[in-house]
Amino acid sequence: MNLSRRKAIAYGTGILGTGSLVAWLEKSTAAANTPEPQLIAADPHALKSNLTPEQALKKLIEGNQRFVENKKINPDQDSIRVKEIAQGQAPFAAILGCADSRVPSEIIFDQGLGDIFNVRIAGNIAMIEDVASEEYAIGVLGAPLLMVLGHERCGAVAAAIKGGNLPGVIESLVYAIQPAVTSTEGLPGDRLTNAIKANVKLQVGRLLTSTVISDAVKEGKLKVVGAYYDLDTGKVTLV
Ligand SMILES: [Zn+2]
Repeated sequence: MNLSRRKAIAYGTGILGTGSLVAWLEKSTAAANTPEPQLIAADPHALKSNLTPEQALKKLIEGNQRFVENKKINPDQDSIRVKEIAQGQAPFAAILGCADSRVPSEIIFDQGLGDIFNVRIAGNIAMIEDVASEEYAIGVLGAPLLMVLGHERCGAVAAAIKGGNLPGVIESLVYAIQPAVTSTEGLPGDRLTNAIKANVKLQVGRLLTSTVISDAVKEGKLKVVGAYYDLDTGKVTLV
Protein backbone atom coordinates (compact mmCIF):
# COMPACT_ATOMS: atom_id res chain seq x y z
CA MET A 1 0.00 0.00 0.00
CA ASN A 2 1.52 3.29 -0.98
CA LEU A 3 1.68 6.36 1.19
CA SER A 4 -1.09 8.32 -0.50
CA ARG A 5 -3.47 5.39 -0.18
CA ARG A 6 -2.66 4.94 3.50
CA LYS A 7 -3.27 8.61 4.05
CA ALA A 8 -6.55 8.44 2.16
CA ILE A 9 -7.76 5.55 4.29
CA ALA A 10 -6.66 7.27 7.48
CA TYR A 11 -8.56 10.33 6.35
CA GLY A 12 -11.57 8.24 5.47
CA THR A 13 -11.61 6.59 8.88
CA GLY A 14 -11.98 9.93 10.56
CA ILE A 15 -14.20 11.80 8.18
CA LEU A 16 -16.21 9.42 6.05
CA GLY A 17 -16.07 6.15 7.93
CA THR A 18 -13.97 3.29 6.60
CA GLY A 19 -16.59 1.39 4.63
CA SER A 20 -17.31 3.54 1.62
CA LEU A 21 -13.87 4.93 0.95
CA VAL A 22 -12.04 1.65 1.37
CA ALA A 23 -14.55 -0.05 -0.92
CA TRP A 24 -14.05 2.69 -3.44
CA LEU A 25 -10.23 2.39 -3.26
CA GLU A 26 -10.43 -1.38 -3.65
CA LYS A 27 -12.63 -0.97 -6.70
CA SER A 28 -10.35 1.71 -8.13
CA THR A 29 -7.34 -0.57 -7.71
CA ALA A 30 -9.20 -3.49 -9.24
CA ALA A 31 -10.31 -1.34 -12.16
CA ALA A 32 -6.77 -0.09 -12.73
CA ASN A 33 -5.52 -3.70 -12.96
CA THR A 34 -8.21 -4.78 -15.43
CA PRO A 35 -7.57 -4.13 -19.13
CA GLU A 36 -11.21 -3.23 -19.84
CA PRO A 37 -12.84 -2.04 -16.61
CA GLN A 38 -16.51 -2.90 -16.24
CA LEU A 39 -17.51 0.45 -14.87
CA ILE A 40 -21.24 -0.12 -14.67
CA ALA A 41 -20.76 -3.34 -12.72
CA ALA A 42 -18.31 -1.67 -10.34
CA ASP A 43 -20.97 -0.03 -8.22
CA PRO A 44 -23.57 -2.41 -6.75
CA HIS A 45 -25.75 0.53 -5.78
CA ALA A 46 -25.85 2.05 -9.25
CA LEU A 47 -29.45 1.96 -10.41
CA LYS A 48 -29.36 3.53 -13.90
CA SER A 49 -31.67 6.25 -15.08
CA ASN A 50 -34.37 4.90 -17.38
CA LEU A 51 -34.46 8.10 -19.45
CA THR A 52 -33.00 8.37 -22.93
CA PRO A 53 -30.52 11.23 -23.54
CA GLU A 54 -33.23 13.19 -25.36
CA GLN A 55 -35.77 12.65 -22.58
CA ALA A 56 -33.21 13.76 -20.02
CA LEU A 57 -32.50 16.99 -21.89
CA LYS A 58 -36.24 17.62 -22.26
CA LYS A 59 -36.73 17.13 -18.53
CA LEU A 60 -34.06 19.71 -17.72
CA ILE A 61 -35.34 22.25 -20.24
CA GLU A 62 -38.94 21.84 -19.03
CA GLY A 63 -37.79 22.36 -15.46
CA ASN A 64 -35.96 25.53 -16.44
CA GLN A 65 -39.09 26.73 -18.22
CA ARG A 66 -41.08 26.29 -14.98
CA PHE A 67 -38.37 28.21 -13.10
CA VAL A 68 -38.42 31.09 -15.60
CA GLU A 69 -42.22 31.28 -15.47
CA ASN A 70 -42.23 31.15 -11.68
CA LYS A 71 -44.14 27.84 -11.79
CA LYS A 72 -41.70 25.64 -9.92
CA ILE A 73 -43.05 22.36 -8.53
CA ASN A 74 -39.92 21.52 -6.42
CA PRO A 75 -40.15 17.79 -7.22
CA ASP A 76 -38.63 15.04 -5.07
CA GLN A 77 -37.38 17.27 -2.29
CA ASP A 78 -39.24 15.71 0.65
CA SER A 79 -38.41 13.03 3.24
CA ILE A 80 -39.99 10.33 1.04
CA ARG A 81 -37.40 11.06 -1.62
CA VAL A 82 -34.63 11.09 0.98
CA LYS A 83 -35.52 7.49 1.92
CA GLU A 84 -36.04 6.47 -1.71
CA ILE A 85 -32.49 7.32 -2.71
CA ALA A 86 -30.69 6.60 0.56
CA GLN A 87 -29.14 3.38 -0.77
CA GLY A 88 -28.23 4.46 -4.28
CA GLN A 89 -28.41 7.12 -6.92
CA ALA A 90 -29.30 7.22 -10.60
CA PRO A 91 -29.08 10.87 -11.63
CA PHE A 92 -30.54 11.55 -15.08
CA ALA A 93 -28.16 14.45 -15.70
CA ALA A 94 -24.56 15.31 -14.93
CA ILE A 95 -23.71 18.99 -15.01
CA LEU A 96 -20.33 20.69 -15.06
CA GLY A 97 -21.33 24.14 -13.87
CA CYS A 98 -19.73 27.25 -12.40
CA ALA A 99 -19.34 27.58 -8.64
CA ASP A 100 -21.11 30.96 -8.88
CA SER A 101 -23.72 31.25 -6.12
CA ARG A 102 -26.35 32.40 -8.60
CA VAL A 103 -26.43 29.20 -10.66
CA PRO A 104 -27.54 26.25 -8.47
CA SER A 105 -28.69 23.48 -10.80
CA GLU A 106 -31.52 21.96 -8.78
CA ILE A 107 -33.18 25.36 -8.43
CA ILE A 108 -32.76 26.72 -11.96
CA PHE A 109 -33.85 23.38 -13.48
CA ASP A 110 -36.53 22.72 -10.84
CA GLN A 111 -35.29 19.21 -10.01
CA GLY A 112 -34.99 17.18 -6.83
CA LEU A 113 -32.67 15.09 -4.73
CA GLY A 114 -30.82 12.43 -6.70
CA ASP A 115 -31.65 14.00 -10.06
CA ILE A 116 -28.49 15.92 -10.96
CA PHE A 117 -24.88 14.92 -10.44
CA ASN A 118 -23.23 18.30 -9.95
CA VAL A 119 -19.61 19.16 -10.51
CA ARG A 120 -19.20 22.84 -9.77
CA ILE A 121 -16.00 24.77 -10.21
CA ALA A 122 -15.32 28.41 -11.05
CA GLY A 123 -15.47 28.89 -14.81
CA ASN A 124 -17.00 25.41 -15.30
CA ILE A 125 -13.61 24.12 -16.38
CA ALA A 126 -12.85 20.47 -17.06
CA MET A 127 -9.68 19.82 -15.09
CA ILE A 128 -8.65 16.21 -14.55
CA GLU A 129 -10.62 15.72 -11.32
CA ASP A 130 -13.72 17.25 -12.89
CA VAL A 131 -13.45 14.90 -15.86
CA ALA A 132 -12.99 11.99 -13.43
CA SER A 133 -16.11 13.03 -11.51
CA GLU A 134 -18.15 13.14 -14.71
CA GLU A 135 -16.72 9.78 -15.75
CA TYR A 136 -18.11 8.41 -12.49
CA ALA A 137 -21.54 9.95 -13.21
CA ILE A 138 -21.62 8.45 -16.69
CA GLY A 139 -19.56 5.26 -16.53
CA VAL A 140 -20.68 4.09 -13.08
CA LEU A 141 -24.01 5.79 -12.40
CA GLY A 142 -25.14 5.72 -16.04
CA ALA A 143 -26.34 9.32 -16.39
CA PRO A 144 -27.69 9.75 -19.95
CA LEU A 145 -27.00 13.49 -20.21
CA LEU A 146 -23.88 15.59 -19.63
CA MET A 147 -24.20 19.36 -19.73
CA VAL A 148 -21.51 22.03 -19.44
CA LEU A 149 -23.30 25.07 -18.07
CA GLY A 150 -21.73 28.50 -18.43
CA HIS A 151 -23.44 31.68 -17.35
CA GLU A 152 -23.75 35.38 -18.07
CA ARG A 153 -21.14 37.69 -16.48
CA CYS A 154 -18.97 34.80 -15.29
CA GLY A 155 -16.28 36.29 -13.07
CA ALA A 156 -13.76 33.57 -13.91
CA VAL A 157 -14.02 34.25 -17.64
CA ALA A 158 -13.96 38.00 -17.02
CA ALA A 159 -10.72 37.54 -15.05
CA ALA A 160 -9.24 35.57 -17.92
CA ILE A 161 -10.05 38.44 -20.29
CA LYS A 162 -8.75 41.11 -17.94
CA GLY A 163 -5.47 39.36 -17.11
CA GLY A 164 -3.08 40.81 -14.56
CA ASN A 165 -2.13 39.57 -11.13
CA LEU A 166 -4.61 37.56 -9.08
CA PRO A 167 -4.31 36.45 -5.45
CA GLY A 168 -3.38 32.89 -4.47
CA VAL A 169 -3.69 30.25 -7.15
CA ILE A 170 -6.64 31.81 -9.00
CA GLU A 171 -4.34 32.04 -12.00
CA SER A 172 -4.91 28.30 -12.58
CA LEU A 173 -8.53 29.03 -13.53
CA VAL A 174 -7.41 31.68 -16.00
CA TYR A 175 -4.99 29.25 -17.58
CA ALA A 176 -7.80 26.74 -18.22
CA ILE A 177 -10.08 29.40 -19.78
CA GLN A 178 -7.45 31.30 -21.80
CA PRO A 179 -7.89 29.40 -25.10
CA ALA A 180 -11.55 30.50 -25.20
CA VAL A 181 -10.50 34.11 -24.69
CA THR A 182 -7.90 33.93 -27.44
CA SER A 183 -10.22 32.20 -29.94
CA THR A 184 -12.89 34.91 -29.60
CA GLU A 185 -10.63 37.96 -29.81
CA GLY A 186 -11.85 40.48 -32.37
CA LEU A 187 -15.23 38.80 -32.96
CA PRO A 188 -18.33 41.01 -33.23
CA GLY A 189 -20.67 41.16 -30.25
CA ASP A 190 -20.02 41.28 -26.52
CA ARG A 191 -16.47 40.29 -25.64
CA LEU A 192 -17.34 38.54 -22.38
CA THR A 193 -20.42 36.70 -23.68
CA ASN A 194 -18.47 35.41 -26.67
CA ALA A 195 -15.70 34.13 -24.43
CA ILE A 196 -18.15 32.50 -21.97
CA LYS A 197 -19.88 30.58 -24.78
CA ALA A 198 -16.54 29.62 -26.34
CA ASN A 199 -15.40 28.41 -22.92
CA VAL A 200 -18.45 26.14 -22.66
CA LYS A 201 -17.54 24.58 -26.02
CA LEU A 202 -13.88 24.32 -25.01
CA GLN A 203 -14.80 22.39 -21.85
CA VAL A 204 -17.22 20.14 -23.76
CA GLY A 205 -14.29 19.27 -26.01
CA ARG A 206 -12.09 18.49 -23.03
CA LEU A 207 -14.74 16.18 -21.54
CA LEU A 208 -15.01 14.36 -24.86
CA THR A 209 -11.32 13.46 -24.71
CA SER A 210 -12.37 10.97 -22.01
CA THR A 211 -12.98 7.56 -23.58
CA VAL A 212 -15.55 6.75 -20.88
CA ILE A 213 -17.56 9.76 -22.05
CA SER A 214 -16.93 9.57 -25.81
CA ASP A 215 -17.63 5.81 -25.90
CA ALA A 216 -20.97 6.38 -24.14
CA VAL A 217 -21.81 8.97 -26.81
CA LYS A 218 -20.85 6.56 -29.63
CA GLU A 219 -23.02 3.86 -28.08
CA GLY A 220 -26.00 6.21 -27.96
CA LYS A 221 -26.16 6.08 -24.16
CA LEU A 222 -25.13 9.69 -23.64
CA LYS A 223 -25.71 13.14 -25.05
CA VAL A 224 -23.22 15.93 -24.28
CA VAL A 225 -24.43 19.51 -24.59
CA GLY A 226 -23.18 23.00 -23.83
CA ALA A 227 -25.56 25.57 -22.31
CA TYR A 228 -25.66 29.18 -21.17
CA TYR A 229 -27.58 30.59 -18.21
CA ASP A 230 -28.93 34.13 -18.48
CA LEU A 231 -28.63 35.81 -15.08
CA ASP A 232 -31.24 38.43 -15.99
CA THR A 233 -34.04 36.07 -17.03
CA GLY A 234 -33.08 32.73 -15.46
CA LYS A 235 -33.33 31.09 -18.87
CA VAL A 236 -30.95 28.36 -20.06
CA THR A 237 -30.22 28.09 -23.78
CA LEU A 238 -28.07 25.54 -25.60
CA VAL A 239 -24.88 26.85 -27.20
ZN1 LIG B 1 -18.94 31.79 -13.29
